[in-house]
Amino acid sequence: MIERLVIVGVGLIGGSFALALRQAGQVRHIVGVGRSQANLRAALQQGVIDEVAGSAAAAVRGADLVLLAVPVGAMPAVLREIAPHLPADCIVTDAGSTKQDVVAAAKAGMADKFKQFVPGHPIAGAENSGVAAARVDLYQGRQVVLTPLAENAPAMVERVAALWQACGAEVARMNAEAHDRIFAAVSHLPHLAAFGLVDDLAGRPEADTYFRYAGSGFRDFTRIAGSHPEMWRDIALANREAVLAELEAYIAELEQIRGLLARGDAAGLEAIFQRASRARKNWNPNAS
Ligand code: NAD
Repeated sequence: MIERLVIVGVGLIGGSFALALRQAGQVRHIVGVGRSQANLRAALQQGVIDEVAGSAAAAVRGADLVLLAVPVGAMPAVLREIAPHLPADCIVTDAGSTKQDVVAAAKAGMADKFKQFVPGHPIAGAENSGVAAARVDLYQGRQVVLTPLAENAPAMVERVAALWQACGAEVARMNAEAHDRIFAAVSHLPHLAAFGLVDDLAGRPEADTYFRYAGSGFRDFTRIAGSHPEMWRDIALANREAVLAELEAYIAELEQIRGLLARGDAAGLEAIFQRASRARKNWNPNAS
C-alpha cells in the first residue's frame, strides 16, 4: 500500500494511473500537482486526487511514490525542484514518451538521489488530454516499458513494475537507447507523418472540400494528428537524432515509391504493397 502518492501532471496519463491504483486498492492518499488550477480542481471533483499541493516541492515531503506525467520538456525543472525534498526511501518514476533525455535530466537534477529514479513509459494513450480524458482502464492489457538504471536497487524496480501490473499492464524492460530508437520508428515518426499530411492539406485553398470527401483511410492515418501539440513538440525535440534517422528512412522509401510510380512500374509498386500488406496483417491478425 502506498500511503502518499504524488502525481505531477494530472492529465490523461497521470490521472489514469491514479484512478487505476485507487481501484486496485494500492494507494491511501493521492496528491496532485500541476500547472492548470482548473484541471486540478476537476481532478479533485472527479475523485482522481484527494489533495492539491501548491508546489511539487511541498507535495513530495512524506511521499512514498512520485509519478512525473508532464510533457518531457518540463521534466528537468520538476526533477530539480523535487530532489532536495524527497524522502530517502521515496521512489520517483515517470511516464515520459522518451527516455534518454529524461534519464539525463534526472542525473543532472537529482544528484545523489538519482538512484531513486526508475524511468518508465506506458504504451497507452490517446489523442485527448487533461484529466477529463483519464480512464481507470487505460492501462488494462497494455504494455509499460521500464528502462531501469544500473544505480536502481532491484526492489525499487520491482515495486514500480508491480504497480503498473496492478493497473492491468504488462511490464517489459529495455535500455533507454533501445527504447528511444524503437519508439522513434513506431510512434514518433507516424505522428510527424500525420501532422505533416494534415498540415499540408489544411493549408490549401480548397482544404474544406478535401476534408469533406476524406474517408476512413484518411481518418485512420491522421487520427493521431489530433494529439497534444506541446507534448509532441517536446517528444520530437527530445528524441531528435533517432527521429531524424527514421524520417530519412521513410523519405527514402517514399522516394522509391515515387520513382516506381513515375516510371509506371506496376510490378515494383505491387511488390512493395504486397510486402507491407503482409507485414501489417501479420502484426495485427484482425486487420481487415
Ligand atoms: P496531458 O496534457 O493530458 O497531461 C499533462 C499534465 O501536465 C497537464 O495537466 C498539464 O497541465 C500538466 N503540466 C504541463 N506542464 C507542466 C509543468 N511544467 N508543471 C506541472 N504540470 C505541468 O498529457 P499526457 O498525455 O497525460 O502526457 C503526460 C506524459 O505522458 C508526457 O510526458 C507524455 O510524453 C507521456 N505519454 C503520453 C501518452 C499519450 O498518448 N498521451 C502516452 C504515453 C506517455
